[in-house]
Amino acid sequence: MKKRIGVDLGGTTAKLGVVTEQNEIVERKVIPTEKGITFEETIARLAEGILSMGDVGIVGFGVPSSLKPEGDIVIHANNLGWKNKDLRKELKKHLGDIPVYIANDADSAAVGEFFQGAGQGHSSMLMLTLGTGVGGGFIYQNRLYRGGNGCGFEPGHMIIQEDGIPCTCGMRGCLESYCSATGIIRIISQCQTSPALRRLIANNGGKATARMLFQAVREGDQAAKDILASYVKNLATGVGSLVTILRPEIVVIGGGVSGAGELLFAPLQEAVKETIFSYDVIGGPEIVPAALGNDAGIIGAALLDQVLI
Ligand SMILES: [Zn+2]
Repeated sequence: MKKRIGVDLGGTTAKLGVVTEQNEIVERKVIPTEKGITFEETIARLAEGILSMGDVGIVGFGVPSSLKPEGDIVIHANNLGWKNKDLRKELKKHLGDIPVYIANDADSAAVGEFFQGAGQGHSSMLMLTLGTGVGGGFIYQNRLYRGGNGCGFEPGHMIIQEDGIPCTCGMRGCLESYCSATGIIRIISQCQTSPALRRLIANNGGKATARMLFQAVREGDQAAKDILASYVKNLATGVGSLVTILRPEIVVIGGGVSGAGELLFAPLQEAVKETIFSYDVIGGPEIVPAALGNDAGIIGAALLDQVLI
């Protein structure tokens, strides 16, 4: 039987996997994609890796960039140093007529969770990934929503605070600035009133991590509790607005921050009652942690043909 291959393309490596009919990864390969190698050389290496995995029936790519929907042009993959690259055309030189499906990497991860992870059994799902930035994907009636006008679904750059703190995108007050792991690190690094946070940061050579916020809350530190309450409020503003507009059946939260478990999810589920329109009448979706971790991107990429129109 021909193989289905998913490729999760990152800034330093591409993770390849053969994905079975049961949506499980049975064979893996990692290929370096570091900056400095040309686009053409990277694609040649990727294609060689893909073809070495056996009789290939279909390939899906999750790419860290927005894409032009009609031509699958990579608009700007900053971490790879790619601008306006025709990925499909370049792949075709090596892969010939093997069907190729291409989507944004956050979209691919959402597709993985939809079929094999926390979104299983639903026909619509919103996913937010709280990591270095805030990414996300939205699936509606079993189809991936890809945005229009050559730009994808970018929930991380929804503005939740007027004249808020600057975002890496150039705007101010984006959800990402407040709710990414980077946002948490910024806030706890500046906090001088939390003995627990100061100790945790000092013990780590002065380097803060998002996990320290939750550790300090577990220790009962009041300043850390206040920071978490403010974090949850901001996240609920973003999630509530998205739910009001999109009305997904389930909301899946991934990324490192989602590892905080009930410390995050219990107050978030409570806080969205105030941010989702008509919650008191019709309620809102369950908000759950992602289930697949880093494998979501490979599995989702391999299944892109199922959700692209
Ligand atoms: Zn932004």
